[in-house]
Amino acid sequence: MAQSDVLEQRPDDESDKACIQEEAPRAIHFDVFTLFPPMFSGALSESILARAQKRGILRVTLHNIRDYATDRHHTCDGYPYGGGGGMVMRPEPVVRAVETVLSRPQGWHLPDERDRFDLPAWNADEPPVPRQPTPIILLTPQGRRFDQSIAAGLSRHGRLALVCGRYEGVDERIRTQLITDELSIGDFVLSGGEIAALAIIDAVTRTLPGVLGHASGAMYDSFSDGLSGLLEGPQYTRPTAFRGEAVPEVLVSGHHANVEQWRREQSLLRSLQRRPDLLAQATIAGHLTLEDRQFLSSQGWQAPTDS
Ligand code: SAM
Repeated sequence: MAQSDVLEQRPDDESDKACIQEEAPRAIHFDVFTLFPPMFSGALSESILARAQKRGILRVTLHNIRDYATDRHHTCDGYPYGGGGGMVMRPEPVVRAVETVLSRPQGWHLPDERDRFDLPAWNADEPPVPRQPTPIILLTPQGRRFDQSIAAGLSRHGRLALVCGRYEGVDERIRTQLITDELSIGDFVLSGGEIAALAIIDAVTRTLPGVLGHASGAMYDSFSDGLSGLLEGPQYTRPTAFRGEAVPEVLVSGHHANVEQWRREQSLLRSLQRRPDLLAQATIAGHLTLEDRQFLSSQGWQAPTDS
C-alpha cells in the first residue's frame, strides 16, 4: 500500500474515522542502550517517527552505556580472554545501565551532565526489581531473524529495552544474565546494533494505530495480515504515462471491485515471482481463497503438497 510520509494527513471520511476508533490507542516506550546515542537523533526527528512521538504513541529514551562505567576513563570494552582480534563489551556497564533504568519509571534517564552527579547505587549481586516485565532485547547477527510478525508481537508491549552491541560483540554473561531475547535484522554483520535498533523501532512503531496518516495503517503492507503475509503489488501515481509506460487501465477506471481484484492478483503474482516461500506459508496457514489458488494455477503455480 502506498505509505506516503505526509505528516499531517487526516482520515477524510466517516468510515476512516470509525476504523481508527475501533482500535484502542496504544503507546510504546523504548529504552535504548548504546555507546553512540547521537546516531539516533536524525532518524527519530523526521517523518513518521517524529510524528508518532509528537502524538505520544512513541517514546524513546536513549541511555549512554559509557555513563555507567565507573572507572576514570569510563571503559566499556576489554580484550577477549583466549586472545583473538578486537574488543568485547564488558558486562558491568551494560548490566548496570539496564537494571538501573528498568527499575525506574519510563522516561527516567541520568542527568545530561555526567560529571555533576553520582550514579544511583547498584549492587551486582542484588539486581534491582524491574518496574514492569520488560523484554530486554540484544541486537545481534546471531539472534532470531526479525520480521513483520515479530514487529507485530513486540508492538503489544508497553516498554521494550534494546541493547546495542559494538566491537566484536558482548561478553557472554550479558546474554546469560540479562538478555531475554536476541534479534538479528539479517544475515550480515553491522558495525554496531544502532542501525538494527532503529530498524526495529521503525517497524514496530508503524504497526501501531494512529501512527500512519490513514486509517488502514500498516495493515496492507507487504508481509502483513491484510495481504495474507504476501508481497504488495505494484503502485502508481501521477502522471498517467511516463516515458510511454501507462498506468494500468483498471486503476483509473474508478471501478472499486475491479481495482481490489487487480491488486490481489498482483500481490499473488509478485509473491509467486519473488517469494514463493510466502505463498507456501499462506497456503499452509489457509489464507488463500479458491479464487487466489485458481489465479495462481493459471500463472503456473503448483500448490505445495503435504509431503
Ligand atoms: N562478532 C560478532 C559475531 O560474529 O556475531 C559480530 C559483532 S558486530 C561487529 C558488533 C555489533 O553489531 C553486534 O554486537 C550487534 O549488536 C550488532 N550487529 C551486527 N550485525 C547485526 C545484525 N545483523 N543484526 C543485529 N545486530 C547486529
